[in-house]
Amino acid sequence: MNAQGWEVGRPEIAQVFKSVDGTERYLVQGGGDGRETVEAVWMPEGDEGETGDGSGIEAEAAARSRATICVSSQVGCAVNCQFCLTAKLGFQRNLSAGEIAGQVVSVLERHGVEVGRERVNLVFMGMGEPFLNYDNFMAAVRLLVEEVGLSPQRMTVSTSGIVPGIERFAEEPPELRPKLAISLNAPNDEVRGEVMPINRKWPIEAVMEAVRKVKLRPRERVTFEYVLLGGVTDRVEHAAEVGRLVRRTGLAAKVNLIAWNPGPGIEYAMPQPEAVERFRVALGAEGIPVYVRRPRGRDIFAACGQLKRTVGETGNRE
Ligand code: SF4
Repeated sequence: MNAQGWEVGRPEIAQVFKSVDGTERYLVQGGGDGRETVEAVWMPEGDEGETGDGSGIEAEAAARSRATICVSSQVGCAVNCQFCLTAKLGFQRNLSAGEIAGQVVSVLERHGVEVGRERVNLVFMGMGEPFLNYDNFMAAVRLLVEEVGLSPQRMTVSTSGIVPGIERFAEEPPELRPKLAISLNAPNDEVRGEVMPINRKWPIEAVMEAVRKVKLRPRERVTFEYVLLGGVTDRVEHAAEVGRLVRRTGLAAKVNLIAWNPGPGIEYAMPQPEAVERFRVALGAEGIPVYVRRPRGRDIFAACGQLKRTVGETGNRE
């Protein structure tokens, strides 16, 4: 128990799914009635999402990181991004700071990670919208920094664009906050409003205005995550629009491209590999650093946007 009265527990990992690529997806025991679980993911050597974001983890060095851990901030999610399986659960509840940090502690213990000696990256990109559970999310960050010894420079929080949350985040001391990723996913308000209904509340320009208030550390970059949906967001002209949008922020930034991962009951199509490559080249030509995230754990529904406590005959169950 620390001075703020929080305790980092070691919640039990109720179930493990192992991918052929080494990724593991966990159902971690939540509080409540004891049956509730949230999802966390362990990706050995990460997915290259950290490449070029100012954490000093370039491609080669990323391979030396032991792993990236992805954790959840809520049970379910209210944001309703149309490409995301978690959205199908709806919002159930916020996780406490101890429950958020506890996922990390349980996964570190499972893999015998020696914090301080081994590099581990942490992403708040699992189930839920961290900025709709802001106080508990930031309390979890402080617990992980002060009690567990993880570096905030190796943490990234991703938001769908919750403007009041970004504005609060901009006020956090830079040495105590994670890096910021904005889940952009579309080139303009029209397409984004279809793919992410939250855009109708906080359109792109409002999000960008809030992002501009974040004071970056030296060499730090803001990441824009961009899910490529076949035929919807993956056209070459979209890449030029994204380039203009990102340049207009005036911030050091980079774009992570994620080829959409299919999930049951979602109608979108995966982008063609050639479309992903064309998009990457076109965005790079706009002068934007651009990286393609490696899909991890697709076979066990551990990849981006696939977390929905899917318990199927997928992967090896431990
Ligand atoms: S992508 Fe993130 S913010 Fe959007 S519905 Fe899924 S979990 Fe929520």
